[in-house]
Amino acid sequence: MLFLSLGPGANVPPVFGLDVTDVSDWEKTVLTPALEVLDSLQKGEKPALEPIRVEGAERSNKRSRHECEPCARVIIGELEWAVHLKSKSHQHHLKKKRKSELAAQQHQASASPCDASPSTESPS
Ligand SMILES: [Zn+2]
Repeated sequence: MLFLSLGPGANVPPVFGLDVTDVSDWEKTVLTPALEVLDSLQKGEKPALEPIRVEGAERSNKRSRHECEPCARVIIGELEWAVHLKSKSHQHHLKKKRKSELAAQQHQASASPCDASPSTESPS
C-alpha cells in the first residue's frame, strides 16, 4: 500500500490506498493512478480511487467505557459490560439501590410539608 498525504488543504479525506502487488510495474500501477488522483483533486474533480477508511483501527483501540452507577464501578469493553450486567454482584447492587431509592422517595413524599401553599397572606 502506498499512502498519499495531500495535506490539510484538500477538501477530501487525505489518505488513499493503492495496491502495490506488482513492483516491477510500479509506475503504471502506482505512480500513474496516484498522479491522476492528485490531478483530479487539483481540478476539483472526484478522484477515481476511493479513500481508505481509517476508522476501523481507531475503533479496535478505543474500548467502550461503561459506568455502573449502582455498583460504583467502571467497566471497560462491550463484552465485559454485558457480563457485568448479568452478574450476581450487579443484580445485588441494583436491587439494593432500587430499594434505597424507593425508600427515599416514600420518605420525601410523606415528609413534604403542607404549609408551603402560596395563599398565606399576612395582614400588615
Ligand atoms: Zn453493576
